[in-house]
Amino acid sequence: MNKLSIAQARKPESIGREVRLQGWVRTRRDSKAGFSFLELNDGSCFGNIQVIAEAGLENYESEVKRLTAGSSVTVEGQLRESPGKGQATEVLARRVTVHGNADPETYALQKKQHSFEFLRTIAHLRPRTNTFGAIARVRNCVCRSIHDFFQEEGFLYIHTPIITASDCEGAGEMFQVTTLKLDQIPKKGPAIDFEQDFFDRPAFLTVSGQLEAETFACSLGKVYTFGPTFRAENSNTSRHLAEFWMVEPEMAFFELADNMDLAERFLKRIFTDVLEKCPEDMEFFNLRIDTTVLETLRHVIASDFVRLTYTEAVDILTGSGETFEYPVSWGVDLQAEHERYLTEKHFRSPVILYDYPRRIKPFYMRCNDDGKTVRAMDILVPKVGEIIGGSQREERLGVLAERMAEQGLAAENYWWYLDLRRYGTVPHSGFGLGLERVIQFVTGMANIRDVIAFPRTPGSAEF
Ligand code: ATP
Ligand code: MN
Repeated sequence: MNKLSIAQARKPESIGREVRLQGWVRTRRDSKAGFSFLELNDGSCFGNIQVIAEAGLENYESEVKRLTAGSSVTVEGQLRESPGKGQATEVLARRVTVHGNADPETYALQKKQHSFEFLRTIAHLRPRTNTFGAIARVRNCVCRSIHDFFQEEGFLYIHTPIITASDCEGAGEMFQVTTLKLDQIPKKGPAIDFEQDFFDRPAFLTVSGQLEAETFACSLGKVYTFGPTFRAENSNTSRHLAEFWMVEPEMAFFELADNMDLAERFLKRIFTDVLEKCPEDMEFFNLRIDTTVLETLRHVIASDFVRLTYTEAVDILTGSGETFEYPVSWGVDLQAEHERYLTEKHFRSPVILYDYPRRIKPFYMRCNDDGKTVRAMDILVPKVGEIIGGSQREERLGVLAERMAEQGLAAENYWWYLDLRRYGTVPHSGFGLGLERVIQFVTGMANIRDVIAFPRTPGSAEF
């Protein structure tokens, strides 16, 4: 007796095998001829397998005929060719073992259709639905593709810390990590005495592994870090989480154009892998969630991303005749509405914007000779907006120190970062890709809270 996943059991080459299948009942139908059909799913693929349970089973009346959605079972029997449409195989059960029932009076997924808002309140059960099973498999595929891509390109996978004393963006909005008792905060004069805190200084959850990744790029060449990042920004949007996953490659001897080339190839590789490895799940998204996802992905894979400077983008936006909620002029940070206008309406393709005003970008981005802009690049895609943010890093010690002073950052806190410029400095670049934004783009899911298992957003961390 072979224990098979339902994905394996659905393949025509499995016909004839004696198998053991284990999973959860999606539906039960009883035929008048005295047997029942069970639709069984185990998460290994989108599709279910049909089980034929005949009246001769010893527990047919007592258990099988009472099975309801959500019950867990082991089915042993023979796989045979299915006469039904849309499935190659079915299993004729010799034995059905019931592990656990699911009371239809209280089991929330008894009903077929639920809103995504409701499903967020049962985040522990939603992976059992078609949509969330498909998202989990696509997310897994994307993560594998990320590692495959970088490994094949000769990158080293490194691990940067989650607890950090440096604020990468210099912008605040970090979660503080402390063991101080909030009702007995030690003081040194009017200030908090952080020497009594766990790390002898204020510490935070990281917003990015970039600064630490740079130390490895400036030793080992091409590296990437991939892990959770945290932002305490109070933005209740469909594209922001307080805890999200970010992939951050960092490359020595890469200038901005090299960085863009890598990012474009990287995204196309992810999209290609998803289409190839998750065809069933992607059909589902295309049918039920967003009827343009397949076409969009194929189009993006086949086309060159548009590249233009921030200044050119501002000209397009101001000349567009469009009324935006936030007016555009040179020097402002572009809002989602502007990003979406460019990728959805003007170019209808992914867009790489580069050379942003230095005043709206972090200290580590390389200054251009014009004195006004830095070598930043953002990749914008339809519907999601910014999916990647990156830059060529400032490798000149003097310029970097000046920029830090300009932004009010204390150089002594970044002494190790400045050392990279002091000893054997090299031109280098990197970017950050938000994993959840990729999953949103690929699946067409409108809300970022639905592409991560347990979303953390302001006021919400139940599960
Ligand atoms: P945005 O302008 O959309 O808030 P950002 O410019 O703050 O993003 P970066 O600091 O450049 O973002 O981070 C790199 C990438 O991480 C972004 O391009 C995006 O894909 C992702 N990202 C950033 N903030 C979040 C968030 N709060 N939730 C989910 N993903 C995020
Ligand atoms: Mn950004």
